Amino acid sequence: MRFDNSPPAAPLHLYPIVRCKPKVPLRVILLQHSIFGLWTHFWNGKTIACSGDELCDACTANVKDVWAGYIIATALETDLTVLCAVTRPVKTDLDKYKDEEHGLFGLSVGLQRVGHRKTSPIAVKVGHRNLMHEKIDGRVTRNIILRLFADNAGKKMLEDRDL
Ligand SMILES: [Zn+2]
Repeated sequence: MRFDNSPPAAPLHLYPIVRCKPKVPLRVILLQHSIFGLWTHFWNGKTIACSGDELCDACTANVKDVWAGYIIATALETDLTVLCAVTRPVKTDLDKYKDEEHGLFGLSVGLQRVGHRKTSPIAVKVGHRNLMHEKIDGRVTRNIILRLFADNAGKKMLEDRDL
C-alpha cells in the first residue's frame, strides 16, 4: 500500500475551454486585461499553432490560417472559471470596451451566435464592469496555450515570438 496524504499538486490552471455554440447564449465575466491570441491552422485533422515561418508545413501547403483568441473568464451559468475562446470579430468588438487601467478585466459579456451554424457570426453584448473578481495574469493564459499546442511546432513559435 502506498499511503500518501500529500499527493502532488494537480497541474495548475486547468480550465475547461468554452466556445459560443449555436442557440446557447454564453455569459461570462472577463478575468484578464487582454485576450491572448495566436494564428492556427486546421491541419491533419487538428488545430495546430502556426509557427509563422518557413518551417510551418501548413503555410507551405497554403492551408488557411485562422486567428484564435483566449481569455480566462467566469462562466455565469456554471460559476466555473473557464478559458473562453473568441474569434477575431469578437475581439474587435470587446476591445472597444477596454480601458487603460483595467483593460477588459471585470466586464460582463454576453455572446450569442446569430444563426444556427457553428461558424455563424457572434453578437456581443457588453454590460457593466465588476472589479470584485480576482484578476488573472496574462502569462497564465500564455502557459495554457503553450500546453494546448505543445505537441507541434507551435511551441517553438510561442516561445520565440513576443506576444
Ligand atoms: Zn502557418
